[in-house]
Amino acid sequence: MGDVDVLFLHPSTHVLTPEGEVVRYVAMPMGTFALADLLERNGYSTRIVHTGLKRMLDPNCRVENLVKTFEPTLVGIDLHWYCHSYDAIKLADCVKRCTNAKVVLGGMTASFFAEEILSSFDCVDYVIVGDAELPMVELTKALMSNREVSDVPNLAYRKGSTIKRNRRAYLASDEDLDKLTCSNLRLLEDWDLYVRLIHENDVLSPKLKTQGWLMIGRGCFTNCSYCGGANLAHRKIFGRKQPIFRSPEKVGEDLKAFEELGISCAYMDFDPYADRRFYYKLFELVRKERIDISSQFLVWSLTDRNFVHDLKRTFNPLYTTLTISPETGSDFVRLQNRGLYYDNQSLLRWLEMLEEENVPAELYFASGLSGETVEEFKKTMKLGEKIIRTYRNVVAASCNPLFLEPCSPRFLMPKKYGIRLKFKRFSDFYETYRCFAEGAVPSSRLGYDTEHLDESQIIELSGKFNDMVNSILEGENLV
Ligand code: SF4
Repeated sequence: MGDVDVLFLHPSTHVLTPEGEVVRYVAMPMGTFALADLLERNGYSTRIVHTGLKRMLDPNCRVENLVKTFEPTLVGIDLHWYCHSYDAIKLADCVKRCTNAKVVLGGMTASFFAEEILSSFDCVDYVIVGDAELPMVELTKALMSNREVSDVPNLAYRKGSTIKRNRRAYLASDEDLDKLTCSNLRLLEDWDLYVRLIHENDVLSPKLKTQGWLMIGRGCFTNCSYCGGANLAHRKIFGRKQPIFRSPEKVGEDLKAFEELGISCAYMDFDPYADRRFYYKLFELVRKERIDISSQFLVWSLTDRNFVHDLKRTFNPLYTTLTISPETGSDFVRLQNRGLYYDNQSLLRWLEMLEEENVPAELYFASGLSGETVEEFKKTMKLGEKIIRTYRNVVAASCNPLFLEPCSPRFLMPKKYGIRLKFKRFSDFYETYRCFAEGAVPSSRLGYDTEHLDESQIIELSGKFNDMVNSILEGENLV
């Protein structure tokens, strides 16, 4: 028996550029921390290793050596986001080549493609399909005592030449989420570097900011066309019909722990209900407990002024921002793609209100939306320009080409959304990210064309938007 019973490995996405290897998507799924902590509390020793951070610290670092040091019985690899499709499998292969440890994959991408992954890659022993808390504890228990895994809920695996999926199912409830602690960051090696680098996409790149992602709940009640975490995906993968929440008290405990760890900003991205009743309770608790932390709050719909007041009097202003993704400047295109709709006029009034309240705002736009044409995209350019020139509280506005997300509405119903799919199987995602990792050119980067735009046009449109924003900011000496 080695030092560690269960080793969690986070794959990162490795991209080979002419300047050398670059690590992308540093953030880890919040559930990994919860799982590792849960196993510890069940008597198993765990450790989390972020392979991207390890490579940043030491370009000669070899995963083989790390895994050999820990001698784990089970290795858990998160494959939640499709961008890790290649690196997750590469890690699994590496583990199998250097130890006898069993390998389990989990997360939304792994869940959605479980059967294909198990049929194609011998290096993966198990996939947990859906919520992983109880399954992970039971799988560990079974392996540590050399028992069969046929009763472990949500588990898919190979048996001989067939793929099995256990009948027993587990769907986490609000109460189950409340048993989790998501702030035990010390289980991650180099966690202090992680909290400094996690906000890699923050355009302001504040050098001393440290950030922690807060787990607030799971699920969504609506369906944005491009989102792999939409209601449809949660129903299909987890069997979850409605969003579930942790209690404000448990979330408050994690915020307190973040503060004690020296984290200066909590990233809060779970906002399914416009009444925001949950947050009024949470914010009251944060004030009562005098927790001193900033909040990067991602709103999924427009808020009223009351909410903004409450946010302001709760969080430290240093890094507090509201982030919103209008995606497009065309009301027509937004209506076709966003589950929670608002029009441009309402958005502008909301930004004006934030300006009056002195709250910084960040905006994200996208290209490649369903129904978007070159003409419609001009409205995105126009809206972006107006916002940047008008509101002094807007600290960032950027545009990104949409990637095809597995199990998103447009992936499941391409015709309805006017999409021509280039990625249909796990192997398509795997192949594209293999090319990125090896410095080769993939046959498709985004995984689709729309009925109006091909991939290169979609990428070009985002580039134009970002050039426009940069030239305005440069003209005003703001960058
Ligand atoms: S992008 Fe849309 S569908 Fe996805 S989680 Fe946000 S609100 Fe829900």
